[in-house]
Amino acid sequence: MSILITNIKELLQVYNSNVTILKGKEMNNLPVLKDAYLYLENDTIVEYGPMSDCDGIEAETTIDASGRVVLPAWCDSHTHLVYPEDRAGEFIDRINGLTYEEIAKKGGGILNSAKKLQEKSEEQLYNQALERLNKLLKLGTGVIEIKSGYGLTVESELKMLRVIQRLKKETQAFVKVTFLGAHAIPEKFKKNKKGYIDMIIKEMLPKIYEENLAHYIDVFCEEGYFTLEDTELILKAAQKYNLPAKIHVNQFNAFGGVELAVKYKALSVDHLEELTSDDIDALKKSNTMPVALPQCSFFLGIPYTNARAILDAGLPLAIASDYNPGSAPSGNMNFVLSLACIKLKMTPEEAINAATINGAYALGLSSMYGSITRGKKANIIITKPISGYQLLPYSFGENLIDTVIVNGIIH
Ligand SMILES: [Zn+2]
Repeated sequence: MSILITNIKELLQVYNSNVTILKGKEMNNLPVLKDAYLYLENDTIVEYGPMSDCDGIEAETTIDASGRVVLPAWCDSHTHLVYPEDRAGEFIDRINGLTYEEIAKKGGGILNSAKKLQEKSEEQLYNQALERLNKLLKLGTGVIEIKSGYGLTVESELKMLRVIQRLKKETQAFVKVTFLGAHAIPEKFKKNKKGYIDMIIKEMLPKIYEENLAHYIDVFCEEGYFTLEDTELILKAAQKYNLPAKIHVNQFNAFGGVELAVKYKALSVDHLEELTSDDIDALKKSNTMPVALPQCSFFLGIPYTNARAILDAGLPLAIASDYNPGSAPSGNMNFVLSLACIKLKMTPEEAINAATINGAYALGLSSMYGSITRGKKANIIITKPISGYQLLPYSFGENLIDTVIVNGIIH
């Protein structure tokens, strides 16, 4: 199957060499080829260039992209897409004045989702998640990370991971799987957190390894959830099973989680709404990708990640949706892009880089995804006719995506 896209108004992220990460000032650079063509064969980007060089190229399918922008599909490096049902009730509680922490204390939050998830069958969870994933595909997400963490028992965590594995096998989207058993302390272990951590280390991890169910390990390193010591125990255990870390840190409190993650060579540290100069110093000495999740700040009304401090320190930054029923009930990366510009004061160029190449890096996939480079995967967004790529973040709430090609298949 070959696809030729012609008359592209702006072809973004064109790199002849295989760029895998952009940092600091580099993030403000977005290579654009005007009046261009792009040629795809099966699931691979084969050729591109100015329209004047397009003569003689033939393909089974030709798409005329006059007036349109073409760019790599979004790489969403942080989601909780598999969940049992919405938590709109808590949304109302918050409107009426309760905080996220207060809702969690009265039995809402993650534990609420965990209880519901335990009652659902693998089939039910799969069908719901598939519907959500298909929606995201049409909104331009081609690569996605999905976490477990609403199971919180051996059986239910494995059930979640199997659902995510099935999404990986049976859909076009490229799915990376993260084990987040340490998402919350289950009710049963309220007075025996050590017992739950033991269960994660001695029961869950060996089974996950045996069935090859996850690529990464995650921990919610936060006051009231898992301390630095707890997190270190889990990361250390996961090392034995070759599960690199991508962890939730600094959402409500900064107490050294970033430094710990760097010590364990984490692939990414996600959230960072609270950020100290020590955190920035630790990141400077690492290959760890900081990931901002602005939808969560938007939805909960908590501070936004200080993206400018991160970028001005010469560090890279990725943005992701954090799609989950409690604090970010949307996986729409186009809105994440708008928030990055409007609230994190990122330029459209920085935001697009953060949602493509750096998002791919945060999943260990940037040698295959995240830019228009010969040999990379054919994961492509074609917009509706627009005046320029700046419209993507500017027209917040509007869907400017027309066609999405994921692994060479047109959606
Ligand atoms: Zn999250």
